Amino acid sequence: MELFNTPESLRSACRQWRRQGLSVALVPTMGFLHAGHMSLIDEARKRADKLVISVFVNPTQFGPNEDLDRYPRDLPRDLRLAEEHGADAVFAPEPGAMYAADHATWVEVPELAKGLCGASRPIHFRGVCTVVLKLLNLVQPDVAVFGQKDWQQLAILRRMARDLDLDAQLIGMPIFREEDGLAMSSRNVYLTEDERARVPAIRQGLLKARDAAAAGQRDAGALALMFRAHIADTLPDARIDYASFVHPDSMAPVARLDAPTLLAVAVFIGKVRLIDNILIEV
Ligand code: AMP
Repeated sequence: MELFNTPESLRSACRQWRRQGLSVALVPTMGFLHAGHMSLIDEARKRADKLVISVFVNPTQFGPNEDLDRYPRDLPRDLRLAEEHGADAVFAPEPGAMYAADHATWVEVPELAKGLCGASRPIHFRGVCTVVLKLLNLVQPDVAVFGQKDWQQLAILRRMARDLDLDAQLIGMPIFREEDGLAMSSRNVYLTEDERARVPAIRQGLLKARDAAAAGQRDAGALALMFRAHIADTLPDARIDYASFVHPDSMAPVARLDAPTLLAVAVFIGKVRLIDNILIEV
């Protein structure tokens, strides 16, 4: 497995593979890899001859008061895991190698980024789109694999890929969870032991809403209230950033569940913001 630190070295290795007729898969990550990332990596491994994993805590997707500086990092461990799971290359650049001091070009999909996470993180998806497009341009992969845990991100990237005629096929993988239902996230290490024990309530709240929809409740407002009540009961110290029903592709708000609808939530517990979602098929 090779480690690349500069865009030029990554680009030239990928170009060589493609010239040899080899297919390439890309899994973009911010590192501190967990089993959720590994499920993406294992899927990508099956889909192409060469597998590139990027490990880059992308500064442009963090707001000024967010956790860029304390975001967990462990590159030696990430390299070991990447190699064990069959990666051919890890791309781990310094921010200065990815962004020129006078970087001035941004990619945005504002229509899909205005709600949910975009409402409380106004520059987040602009940073995500820009860095993912840069990575896709460097690697020129046949496939790129993303997680449905960040459903809005995937919807935005799919729209970007379609609108800008990108060549890569984008694949979305199901949310990988701890045994008690908590969606895996690098940020889960921020949780105290007590918080960690209680946060599976988020998943339970999603399931409660899904079950009520299956039992006939189609009113999104009533279902959202049900989720909120569950969180108020089980995580009284939590603050709900949003609990919203949206169309799974357009991210437009949905008032009645007449078609598959995404319930997406973000919950602050202590200093940690956790996101989760469930696709409700009625
Ligand atoms: P991150 O390192 O958090 O930026 O995540 C990198 C990729 O892994 C993104 O496509 C995420 O959606 C995906 N991912 C993160 N956590 C999970 C999870 N628990 N299950 C599935 N995919 C995940």
